[in-house]
Amino acid sequence: MGTHVFLLTDFLFKFLVIGNAGTGKSCLLHQFIEKEFKEDSNHTIGVEFGSKIINVGGKHVKLQIWDTAGQERFRSVTRSYYRGAAGALLVYDITSRETYNALTNWLTDARMLASQNIVIILCGNKKDLDADREVTFLEASRFAQENELMFLETSALTGENVEEAFVQCARKILNKIESGELDPERMGSGIQYGDAALRHLRSPRRAQAQSVQECGC
Ligand code: GDP
Ligand code: MG
Repeated sequence: MGTHVFLLTDFLFKFLVIGNAGTGKSCLLHQFIEKEFKEDSNHTIGVEFGSKIINVGGKHVKLQIWDTAGQERFRSVTRSYYRGAAGALLVYDITSRETYNALTNWLTDARMLASQNIVIILCGNKKDLDADREVTFLEASRFAQENELMFLETSALTGENVEEAFVQCARKILNKIESGELDPERMGSGIQYGDAALRHLRSPRRAQAQSVQECGC
Protein backbone atom coordinates (compact mmCIF):
# COMPACT_ATOMS: atom_id res chain seq x y z
CA MET A 1 0.00 0.00 0.00
CA GLY A 2 1.55 3.29 -1.04
CA THR A 3 1.65 6.27 1.22
CA HIS A 4 1.41 9.71 -0.26
CA VAL A 5 2.93 12.57 1.65
CA PHE A 6 1.75 16.00 0.70
CA LEU A 7 3.91 18.78 1.99
CA LEU A 8 1.84 21.92 2.31
CA THR A 9 3.89 25.03 1.85
CA ASP A 10 3.36 28.25 3.77
CA PHE A 11 5.17 30.51 1.34
CA LEU A 12 6.72 30.58 -2.08
CA PHE A 13 9.75 32.84 -2.63
CA LYS A 14 11.36 33.73 -5.93
CA PHE A 15 15.16 33.69 -5.61
CA LEU A 16 17.94 34.72 -7.99
CA VAL A 17 21.56 33.68 -8.25
CA ILE A 18 23.67 36.53 -9.64
CA GLY A 19 27.35 37.36 -10.07
CA ASN A 20 30.08 37.09 -12.71
CA ALA A 21 30.41 34.07 -14.97
CA GLY A 22 32.61 31.33 -13.53
CA THR A 23 31.98 32.14 -9.86
CA GLY A 24 30.09 28.88 -9.37
CA LYS A 25 26.44 29.97 -9.45
CA SER A 26 25.20 26.92 -11.35
CA CYS A 27 27.24 24.63 -9.09
CA LEU A 28 25.77 26.30 -5.97
CA LEU A 29 22.24 25.78 -7.28
CA HIS A 30 23.03 22.18 -8.19
CA GLN A 31 24.63 21.48 -4.79
CA PHE A 32 21.62 22.97 -3.00
CA ILE A 33 19.05 20.95 -4.95
CA GLU A 34 20.92 17.67 -5.52
CA LYS A 35 23.39 17.71 -2.61
CA GLU A 36 26.28 16.92 -4.91
CA PHE A 37 28.95 18.77 -6.88
CA LYS A 38 28.11 19.24 -10.53
CA GLU A 39 31.22 17.87 -12.25
CA ASP A 40 30.37 18.39 -15.91
CA SER A 41 30.14 22.15 -16.06
CA ASN A 42 29.18 22.43 -19.72
CA HIS A 43 27.36 25.71 -20.00
CA THR A 44 23.81 24.85 -20.83
CA ILE A 45 22.00 27.49 -22.80
CA GLY A 46 18.42 28.09 -21.82
CA VAL A 47 16.60 28.62 -18.58
CA GLU A 48 18.29 27.25 -15.50
CA PHE A 49 15.84 26.80 -12.74
CA GLY A 50 15.48 24.79 -9.58
CA SER A 51 12.99 24.53 -6.78
CA LYS A 52 13.14 23.08 -3.30
CA ILE A 53 11.03 23.14 -0.16
CA ILE A 54 12.91 24.05 3.00
CA ASN A 55 11.85 24.14 6.63
CA VAL A 56 12.57 27.47 8.28
CA GLY A 57 11.55 27.62 11.93
CA GLY A 58 8.66 25.23 11.32
CA LYS A 59 7.43 27.01 8.19
CA HIS A 60 7.64 25.24 4.85
CA VAL A 61 8.96 27.59 2.22
CA LYS A 62 9.20 26.68 -1.43
CA LEU A 63 12.12 28.42 -3.10
CA GLN A 64 11.90 28.95 -6.84
CA ILE A 65 15.45 29.70 -7.85
CA TRP A 66 16.51 31.26 -11.12
CA ASP A 67 20.05 30.98 -12.43
CA THR A 68 21.30 33.38 -15.10
CA ALA A 69 21.73 30.55 -17.63
CA GLY A 70 24.93 32.01 -19.06
CA GLN A 71 23.42 35.42 -19.78
CA GLU A 72 25.94 37.10 -17.46
CA ARG A 73 28.65 36.38 -20.04
CA PHE A 74 27.04 38.84 -22.41
CA ARG A 75 26.07 41.42 -19.77
CA SER A 76 22.51 40.95 -20.86
CA VAL A 77 20.76 39.70 -17.76
CA THR A 78 17.27 40.91 -18.50
CA ARG A 79 14.84 42.98 -16.49
CA SER A 80 12.31 40.17 -16.60
CA TYR A 81 14.83 37.92 -14.88
CA TYR A 82 15.07 40.27 -11.91
CA ARG A 83 11.42 41.25 -11.70
CA GLY A 84 9.69 40.30 -8.48
CA ALA A 85 12.52 38.48 -6.74
CA ALA A 86 12.26 38.24 -2.96
CA GLY A 87 15.82 37.08 -2.37
CA ALA A 88 19.16 36.72 -4.10
CA LEU A 89 22.52 35.03 -3.71
CA LEU A 90 25.17 37.47 -4.93
CA VAL A 91 28.20 35.34 -5.76
CA TYR A 92 31.88 36.13 -6.22
CA ASP A 93 34.88 33.81 -6.31
CA ILE A 94 37.31 34.26 -3.38
CA THR A 95 40.20 33.41 -5.76
CA SER A 96 39.27 36.17 -8.22
CA ARG A 97 39.42 39.83 -7.26
CA GLU A 98 37.87 40.70 -10.62
CA THR A 99 34.63 38.95 -9.61
CA TYR A 100 34.70 40.77 -6.25
CA ASN A 101 35.18 44.15 -7.94
CA ALA A 102 32.08 43.51 -10.05
CA LEU A 103 29.82 43.22 -6.99
CA THR A 104 28.81 46.88 -6.92
CA ASN A 105 27.42 46.66 -10.45
CA TRP A 106 25.44 43.52 -9.65
CA LEU A 107 24.09 45.14 -6.53
CA THR A 108 22.96 48.24 -8.38
CA ASP A 109 21.11 46.13 -10.96
CA ALA A 110 19.48 43.95 -8.31
CA ARG A 111 18.23 46.87 -6.25
CA MET A 112 17.05 48.76 -9.34
CA LEU A 113 15.45 45.91 -11.30
CA ALA A 114 14.20 43.53 -8.61
CA SER A 115 11.95 44.39 -5.70
CA GLN A 116 13.11 47.38 -3.63
CA ASN A 117 13.11 45.17 -0.55
CA ILE A 118 15.08 42.31 -2.06
CA VAL A 119 17.04 40.42 0.61
CA ILE A 120 20.55 39.66 -0.59
CA ILE A 121 23.17 37.31 0.80
CA LEU A 122 26.73 37.76 -0.41
CA CYS A 123 28.46 34.43 -1.08
CA GLY A 124 32.23 34.22 -1.36
CA ASN A 125 32.35 30.91 -3.21
CA LYS A 126 35.21 28.38 -3.71
CA LYS A 127 36.06 28.54 -0.03
CA ASP A 128 37.87 25.22 -0.55
CA LEU A 129 40.53 27.00 -2.64
CA ASP A 130 41.89 28.96 0.31
CA ALA A 131 45.52 28.71 -0.95
CA ASP A 132 44.56 30.74 -4.05
CA ARG A 133 42.54 33.32 -2.16
CA GLU A 134 42.59 36.91 -3.49
CA VAL A 135 39.85 38.35 -1.27
CA THR A 136 40.00 38.12 2.53
CA PHE A 137 37.03 37.23 4.66
CA LEU A 138 37.38 40.49 6.60
CA GLU A 139 37.37 42.69 3.52
CA ALA A 140 34.26 41.04 2.12
CA SER A 141 32.43 41.12 5.45
CA ARG A 142 33.05 44.88 5.67
CA PHE A 143 31.66 45.31 2.16
CA ALA A 144 28.63 43.27 3.18
CA GLN A 145 28.07 45.37 6.29
CA GLU A 146 28.35 48.65 4.38
CA ASN A 147 25.83 47.44 1.82
CA GLU A 148 23.41 45.78 4.23
CA LEU A 149 24.01 42.29 2.92
CA MET A 150 24.28 39.05 4.81
CA PHE A 151 27.54 37.26 4.14
CA LEU A 152 28.90 33.72 4.03
CA GLU A 153 31.83 31.99 2.39
CA THR A 154 30.62 28.88 0.57
CA SER A 155 31.92 25.91 -1.34
CA ALA A 156 29.78 24.33 -4.02
CA LEU A 157 32.50 21.65 -4.16
CA THR A 158 32.33 20.48 -0.52
CA GLY A 159 28.81 21.78 0.11
CA GLU A 160 29.96 23.94 3.02
CA ASN A 161 27.47 26.72 3.84
CA VAL A 162 25.45 26.15 0.65
CA GLU A 163 22.17 25.15 2.30
CA GLU A 164 22.87 27.79 4.99
CA ALA A 165 23.04 30.57 2.40
CA PHE A 166 19.58 29.80 1.03
CA VAL A 167 18.09 29.17 4.48
CA GLN A 168 19.52 32.36 6.05
CA CYS A 169 18.18 34.43 3.18
CA ALA A 170 14.73 32.80 3.48
CA ARG A 171 14.74 33.28 7.26
CA LYS A 172 15.42 37.00 6.88
CA ILE A 173 12.52 37.31 4.43
CA LEU A 174 10.21 35.45 6.83
CA ASN A 175 11.29 37.77 9.67
CA LYS A 176 10.47 40.77 7.51
CA ILE A 177 7.05 39.35 6.71
CA GLU A 178 6.36 38.72 10.39
CA SER A 179 7.48 42.21 11.41
CA GLY A 180 5.30 43.73 8.69
CA GLU A 181 8.28 45.19 6.86
CA LEU A 182 7.44 43.04 3.84
CA ASP A 183 3.93 42.63 2.51
CA PRO A 184 3.48 39.34 0.63
CA GLU A 185 0.38 40.76 -1.04
CA ARG A 186 2.16 43.67 -2.65
CA MET A 187 2.64 43.19 -6.40
CA GLY A 188 6.17 42.16 -7.31
CA SER A 189 7.17 41.21 -3.78
CA GLY A 190 8.37 37.83 -5.05
CA ILE A 191 6.37 36.20 -2.29
CA GLN A 192 3.23 34.11 -2.59
CA TYR A 193 1.28 32.23 0.00
CA GLY A 194 1.58 28.46 -0.25
CA ASP A 195 -1.35 26.04 -0.07
CA ALA A 196 -1.08 25.53 3.71
CA ALA A 197 -1.18 29.24 4.41
CA LEU A 198 -4.11 29.73 2.03
CA ARG A 199 -6.15 27.18 3.98
CA HIS A 200 -5.54 29.09 7.19
CA LEU A 201 -6.26 32.42 5.59
CA ARG A 202 -9.43 31.59 3.72
CA SER A 203 -11.90 31.36 6.58
CA PRO A 204 -10.85 34.40 8.64
CA ARG A 205 -10.77 36.48 5.44
CA ARG A 206 -14.32 35.59 4.55
CA ALA A 207 -15.47 36.38 8.08
CA GLN A 208 -13.77 39.74 7.88
CA ALA A 209 -15.39 40.56 4.54
CA GLN A 210 -18.82 39.70 5.95
CA SER A 211 -18.43 41.86 9.02
CA VAL A 212 -17.56 44.78 6.76
CA GLN A 213 -20.71 44.20 4.69
CA GLU A 214 -22.89 43.96 7.74
CA CYS A 215 -21.81 47.37 8.87
CA GLY A 216 -24.08 49.54 6.73
CA CYS A 217 -22.58 52.89 7.63
P1 GDP B 1 28.77 30.04 -13.16
O1 GDP B 1 29.27 30.52 -14.49
O2 GDP B 1 28.79 31.14 -12.16
O3 GDP B 1 27.47 29.35 -13.23
O4 GDP B 1 29.86 28.99 -12.63
P2 GDP B 1 29.82 27.38 -12.69
O5 GDP B 1 28.88 26.85 -11.67
O6 GDP B 1 29.61 26.95 -14.08
O7 GDP B 1 31.30 27.04 -12.19
C1 GDP B 1 32.44 27.61 -12.84
C2 GDP B 1 33.67 26.74 -12.55
O8 GDP B 1 34.01 26.81 -11.16
C3 GDP B 1 33.46 25.27 -12.85
O9 GDP B 1 34.67 24.77 -13.41
C4 GDP B 1 33.21 24.64 -11.50
O10 GDP B 1 33.63 23.31 -11.46
C5 GDP B 1 34.04 25.52 -10.58
N1 GDP B 1 33.48 25.65 -9.22
C6 GDP B 1 32.24 26.06 -8.89
N2 GDP B 1 32.08 26.11 -7.57
C7 GDP B 1 33.25 25.73 -7.03
C8 GDP B 1 33.73 25.58 -5.67
O11 GDP B 1 33.06 25.83 -4.68
N3 GDP B 1 35.04 25.15 -5.51
C9 GDP B 1 35.83 24.86 -6.58
N4 GDP B 1 37.08 24.45 -6.32
N5 GDP B 1 35.41 24.99 -7.86
C10 GDP B 1 34.15 25.42 -8.08
MG1 MG C 1 26.11 29.12 -14.79
